[in-house]
Amino acid sequence: MKKYFTDIFSGIWNLLKGMKITGKVLVSPAVTECYPEKRDELQPKERFRAELTMPHNENNEHKCTACGICAMNCPNQTITVNKSKITDENGKSKIVLDQYLYDLGSCIFCGLCSRVCPQGAIEFTNNFEHAVYTRSKLIKQLNKPGSKKVEVAKPVAPAAKPASAPAQQEKEAAPKQENENNQ
Ligand code: SF4
Ligand code: SF4
Repeated sequence: MKKYFTDIFSGIWNLLKGMKITGKVLVSPAVTECYPEKRDELQPKERFRAELTMPHNENNEHKCTACGICAMNCPNQTITVNKSKITDENGKSKIVLDQYLYDLGSCIFCGLCSRVCPQGAIEFTNNFEHAVYTRSKLIKQLNKPGSKKVEVAKPVAPAAKPASAPAQQEKEAAPKQENENNQ
């Protein structure tokens, strides 16, 4: 009989403990984001890696040299760099990027590709909405049609500075000093 009542009070006590936690959570401010209802208010963190992109400037130019270092470092073979060799107007042969393919469906968002790119040609955005019905649509060409590599002006070698007057005088005086010492 005693056990019967102990079990009942114990059950009620545990129920109240559970209700206390539920009540606390009920009146605390929400920490979750309502998606997709509040899509416009969502603010993904700046460093969140959601999609690899290749920025282009206003002249439809990118920085990729088609070196393939990003593809070599990708642990998942997510990147394919298709390139070809052309001869420019000066008769010089050079490598140009034909297609930069990125398979979003196999990317693990490790960020190695953008970290190793010597040109800073690719970067991650935090656009995370990628729902599609077929996986093939997740393969994206990052270089825009008709785009080309941006021409970077070669740094001009600085002109030799004329020696300053005191330095010039020192230079001229040095042989004289040497002669006097030898005598
Ligand atoms: S983030 Fe990682 S897995 Fe994705 S493309 Fe870059 S290197 Fe490959
Ligand atoms: S994105 Fe960077 S590392 Fe990849 S091929 Fe282009 S220049 Fe090379």
